[in-house]
Parts: sequence; C-alpha cells; structure tokens
Amino acid sequence: MTTRAVELAHRLDRLLGVDVHPDYPAALNGLQVDHQGPVRRIAAAVDVSQRTIEVAAQAGANFLIVHHGLFWTGSQRVVGGLYSRFRQLFAHDIAVYSAHLPLDSHAEFGNNVLLARELGLMPSRRFASYQGTPIGIAGDSDMPTDALLSLVDAFSRRHGGQARASEIPTGQRTHRWAICTGAGASTETLLEAEAAKVQTLITGEGPHHTAVEAPERGVVVIYAGHYATETLGVAAVAERVADETGLPWSFVSAPTGL
Ligand SMILES: [Zn+2]
Repeated sequence: MTTRAVELAHRLDRLLGVDVHPDYPAALNGLQVDHQGPVRRIAAAVDVSQRTIEVAAQAGANFLIVHHGLFWTGSQRVVGGLYSRFRQLFAHDIAVYSAHLPLDSHAEFGNNVLLARELGLMPSRRFASYQGTPIGIAGDSDMPTDALLSLVDAFSRRHGGQARASEIPTGQRTHRWAICTGAGASTETLLEAEAAKVQTLITGEGPHHTAVEAPERGVVVIYAGHYATETLGVAAVAERVADETGLPWSFVSAPTGL
C-alpha cells in the first residue's frame, strides 16, 4: 500500500482537528508543500529550516511534520533563506505538514499534556486560551518549587536546552501549576496564573518583563526553552501516523538555543 502526501495530511488533519482549531492566520496549518511521492519515510521536527530539511533528507524522509511551518509572516517573497528551503525541499521531493496550536492543545498529542506527563504532573484543568480555545493545562501538586525546577531542567537538558526561573521565594512549595509551552510567558498568562492562585507557571520562553512581573503577582515562571517544550507533540503524532500507515519515521533533533 502506498501513501500519498495528501492522504497522510488528511489523516493528520482529522487526528489533530486542524480544520476547526483557531490559529494565527499565517500559521497555515496542514499540508504546506506537496511532493511527487509516494511517502517513503516520515521525519518530525519542531521547526522547518535548512538544517532540519537536510537531516530529514539524509535520513531518507520525504514527508516532514513540523510545529513551526514556513509562512509565519504571511505573504512573502520566495528569496534568500526561504528560497533555499524551497530549493532543498524540491530537490529532495520533501513534503511539509505543519500543525501549530492544534498540536499544543491536543488532549493526546499536545505539547502541553505530554510535557506534564514527562514531569509526572497530572493535569486537571485547562489554562490559557487562544480565541476561546484552551491551549495550556493546569493541575495540583505538592512539591518544593526548587524540586520542580530541577525536574524541568533535567527535561530541558535532555532536549538540548536548560531551564531558568524567575525569583523563587525561599522554601516555596508548588500546590498549583500551569503549563503553556512555547512563547507562553506574557502579562496575560501571569494575570491568569495569579487569579487561579497558580504558584508555578512552566513555559518555554517569554519577554524579560515577565520575570520582573512574576514575583509581584506571586507566580514563579520556569522558562524551560521554547524548543525543548515543543519537541514532544510532533514526535507523538508522527509515531501515531507511522504506526497506522506502516511507514518508518524519525525525529530530527535541532535545538535552537532558545
Ligand atoms: Zn512555538
């Protein structure tokens, strides 16, 4: 049985609810680039970049599933770096499928639930919404915030990053936590955490002012790295569709330093 890129894309669309999930207009979730195919091997990466395309090609993959796709700034000229990406994609006949917020919020393949599971945390509530659709998660725990930071840091290091935290009050324990992967630290998420009496917000990254604001709102923000916190979803969904179709797959590790 051969699998075409459009068929694999439809399978992913259904699995992730891509058609009904709100996202930034330029996210362009779904199949972004077609190929001649058929699909021989799947690669999963956080970002589509010259580096990840090259590693995918070396692995013999011709269908690349990513969390951050090609078109973030909307209509753009296919010149410079973008031209180089397209040139590589066409040269290796690689299709690109991108899923952004649908892959953050998903109950089974979402970056947020999978990060909670990695940390041994049990989600019981939703946290942080985009256009009315919840993206992040939250739950209860009873552990020293320092210990939680160590757990998160160990996770980040396994994925090429490291975790940092805003000021942690001496002896503080985390009874309520929230997770919002990627660029999840903002005044909005801090206000939501404060209102929900969340002691610790685990996220990928955020602007400097969030670390200044956090202690004033009684929240510790753990910045676990944008890249590290978004490695799990693409791998999980790639593994699922690979199982369903009998295609081989692999994860392309390409930490960005952020
Ligand atoms: Zn992201």
